Amino acid sequence: MTSDLRPKKSLGQHFLHDRHAIARIVAALDAKQDDPVVEIGPGTGALTRPLTERFARLVALEVDERAIAVLQAELPDLDVRHGDVLNADWAALAEEMGAGKHGLTVVGNLPYYITSPILFALLDARRHLRRAVVMMQKEVAERLVAEPRTKAYGILSVQLQLWARPSYLFTVKPGAFSPPPKVDSAVVALDFAGIEEPDVNENQLRTVVRTAFGQRRKMLRSSLKGLAKQAPGSIPEPMQTLRPEALAPDEFVALTRALFDG
Ligand code: SAM
Repeated sequence: MTSDLRPKKSLGQHFLHDRHAIARIVAALDAKQDDPVVEIGPGTGALTRPLTERFARLVALEVDERAIAVLQAELPDLDVRHGDVLNADWAALAEEMGAGKHGLTVVGNLPYYITSPILFALLDARRHLRRAVVMMQKEVAERLVAEPRTKAYGILSVQLQLWARPSYLFTVKPGAFSPPPKVDSAVVALDFAGIEEPDVNENQLRTVVRTAFGQRRKMLRSSLKGLAKQAPGSIPEPMQTLRPEALAPDEFVALTRALFDG
């Protein structure tokens, strides 16, 4: 799709023009023709056009009214909605689009300035989602799939690996976009179906993970001291002198339960 829309940096607008990358993203959705699909940030429609050709039920969420005008002119049948994706009501969308138990399929070349909030919003909405295929900064993609004891391992790795199944699909170079971003990008798939929910209070786990990685150079016995009032239990002995990056996601579950359930 061609358009003279002047990209707005503040909205993270880097329009994808690499046909190969576009085709790979659409194929990676691994969805059927009548699966309900939601696109985050359609922009001027690089992904939207092939999506409309492939899927019967598509809703696109876009914050930039200029982009919406371009889309409406070029794809008059498209259901594009104006708003901030961070305010999206995924439960209502799933219901409206008839996603049922199967869940929505999500796709997007994400606005990078809000990658993490979008990922956490998708995690919160996981009961309504089947699979998401999203483009983000390569460095963030690496964090999602990072293993313990690596530099990239952190809050995103633990939470995304506990409540979804992330896979790193492929790397995309800056030249695939206009204007080119300063960093490499990568496409990640997040599967939400068939995940066994960990037996832990989600908010408590988030608190522990954030507190521990907030001081990632410190041993857990020192970084988690501040939690003593709300979490009266104690850190299991073998974990006391470890740094957070040494704990696998399921060990964070055990740690949270030990702290909060005593
Ligand atoms: N999908 C297009 C493409 O691949 O060429 C555009 C991708 S561009 C990286 C990100 C898009 O997200 C832009 O169209 C931008 O306007 C939109 N966007 C930015 N912030 C948003 C928000 N809070 N909610 C919804 N869309 C947003």
